[in-house]
Amino acid sequence: MNSSTEKITIIGAGLNGPLLAILLRQRGFAVEIYERRPDMRRVRLSAGRSINLALSTRGIYALQQAGLWERMRSIIIPMRGRMMHSTSGELTFQPYGKDETEVINSISRAELNIALVNAAEEHGAAIRFNQRCTGYDLKTGALRLRDQKTRKETLQQGGVVIGCDGSASAIRSEMLKLNRFDFSQQYLGYGYKELTIPAGAGGKHLLETNALHIWPRGNLMLIALPNIDGTFACILFLPFEGKDSFTSITTQSQIRDFFEARFPDAIRLMPQLADNYFANPTGSMVTIKCSPWHVAGRSLLLGDAAHAIVPFFGQGLNCGFEDCTRLTSLLDRNGPGWESVFREFESERKVNTDAIADMAVENFVEMRDRVADSGFLFRKKVELALEDRYPRRFVPKYAMVTFHRVPYSVAMARGTVQERILAELCGSANRVEDLDWKKAEQLIQRDLAPLELPQ
Ligand SMILES: Cc1cc2nc3c(=O)[nH]c(=O)nc-3n(C[C@H](O)[C@H](O)[C@H](O)COP(=O)(O)OP(=O)(O)OC[C@H]3O[C@@H](n4cnc5c(N)ncnc54)[C@H](O)[C@@H]3O)c2cc1C
Repeated sequence: MNSSTEKITIIGAGLNGPLLAILLRQRGFAVEIYERRPDMRRVRLSAGRSINLALSTRGIYALQQAGLWERMRSIIIPMRGRMMHSTSGELTFQPYGKDETEVINSISRAELNIALVNAAEEHGAAIRFNQRCTGYDLKTGALRLRDQKTRKETLQQGGVVIGCDGSASAIRSEMLKLNRFDFSQQYLGYGYKELTIPAGAGGKHLLETNALHIWPRGNLMLIALPNIDGTFACILFLPFEGKDSFTSITTQSQIRDFFEARFPDAIRLMPQLADNYFANPTGSMVTIKCSPWHVAGRSLLLGDAAHAIVPFFGQGLNCGFEDCTRLTSLLDRNGPGWESVFREFESERKVNTDAIADMAVENFVEMRDRVADSGFLFRKKVELALEDRYPRRFVPKYAMVTFHRVPYSVAMARGTVQERILAELCGSANRVEDLDWKKAEQLIQRDLAPLELPQ
């Protein structure tokens, strides 16, 4: 196969589709993308689609590989830690990492999407908007596409087809019809709603700029991420059913009363709260696992289409971007022998995407509940102290996932060992100075081999 003549069709111009297109164009492939939505550079976003994302090391690495990171710097805001808001308005700041280099970056989904789509076109990828994939013949490779404006359907021969069409993937739906296709989807009993804190006078942020703000309230939570225009993109997470849920809050006065009781400092900054709440859709959150991700060297699933995860580790996009760089590095090593590249890709990635899927669900409990707990905050301090003393052996799980490109499965396995070590050390101390350092040395040398940190 010749990369300069071989056609690759990508379904979906969300976040992974255009990034993958750039990496493939850099390698000389002809790339065409079909996207069901209109071109977001020309048509205003529908409400509820502008949620911010936390971009971290894996995503940044991929943007660097695509030559785009420098361009993104003007549209990101580094967040150095979590700012917890108690019901009485007390603030507690907890840094994410050991120093100023360990930050996560707030970026608007829409701005990132537009930048990626622009760059994919600049690299020579053809993007066809308003084209919904309504079917795909896995045997012949024929794609059925419906023009969303004219409703006309056409058949196209797609070459190699990569489904980057998100958690409700049409390509995956076709694979589901195959014998022995493994598939599971697990919804959380919680939904989310996008809300906004407007900018203050002169476009100033009304809360600390360089932080991810969290209002943890047991089984519910509000978060806010800063935007470059001075606003904050907020997400309210609530159960679907029961008391204080999306089902029970149905009037303007109910949502105001609820915020007054649970998030009193936030409601003062949200004059449009009730309007936003009722205008924006309620999203659901799902974990999807499936296998195989590929068929006959002709089609592949990537990103959320292969492994949708819940957002509580801020990794869905970062993980999808890592898919793109891993796939292209396998291509660089093996050449476009698609079947073997796809097989190796899934065998390397699946164990890792399963791991981040599980860690993301676990992190939900941590974010909505445990971050406000003094024992939890103490353990975080101890983790940083241990990392300081044993930088190659004890790296906090959050840091392995967020600030390094350690395989997710390794981060999860080491995280479990580290939890046990922390439980032993923190049981008998309330201050970092009182830790039993001799025991720490023993446990760490015994249970944690030096960690390889990919550069
Ligand atoms: C509330 C929330 C917060 C999140 N926060 C973070 C975060 O902080 N950090 C992080 O890393 N990740 C985060 N994520 C996850 C991240 O948004 C996803 O992992 C990422 O968008 C996946 O990219 P994708 O390209 O695979 O899919 P998508 O972004 O969903 O894009 C899929 C594209 O395919 C198109 N499409 C779908 N079906 C068809 C079809 N049949 N034909 C043609 N086109 C089609 C869609 O219109 C869309 O443009 C969050 C997710 C949610 C829901």
